[in-house]
Amino acid sequence: MSTRPRKIYLLHFCRPFGHAEHYLGSTDHLSHRLRKHARGEASTLVRHVVAAGIPIVVADVREGDRTEERRLKNRGGSKSRHCPICRGELTLEQAMRRIRANRILESEGVAPVADALYQLAAGA
Ligand SMILES: [Zn+2]
Repeated sequence: MSTRPRKIYLLHFCRPFGHAEHYLGSTDHLSHRLRKHARGEASTLVRHVVAAGIPIVVADVREGDRTEERRLKNRGGSKSRHCPICRGELTLEQAMRRIRANRILESEGVAPVADALYQLAAGA
C-alpha cells in the first residue's frame, strides 16, 4: 500500500467541452496522473478535451481520500461554483503560478507536467 497522502485535484478547462468545464479526480501520485491525462490515458473526458485543443489548468489540489472525493462529487464538486478560477479567486496565471511555486504540493515534480498539460492544446 502506498503511504503517499492521496490528493484530490480539480482540472479547469479553459473552454467548455459540451457541458463539461471541469474534471475532479484523486490520485496518490499527481504528476504521474497528470502525465497520463496529457497522454489521454487517465480519463475519456480529458482525452477529448485535449484532442479539442482546449487548455487545461490544475485549479485546485487538496489532500483527501476516495471517500472525500465521492463526497465532493455528490455535492457537485466538479461544478464551477467549487472552482477557484471560475469563482474569480484565482486568475489562470495565478493558478499556474501556484502550481509552479509548489505551495499546495510536495516535491512531486508536478509543475512541469501541469505546464505541459496547459501547453498541449497550444501545440507548444
Ligand atoms: Zn473552473
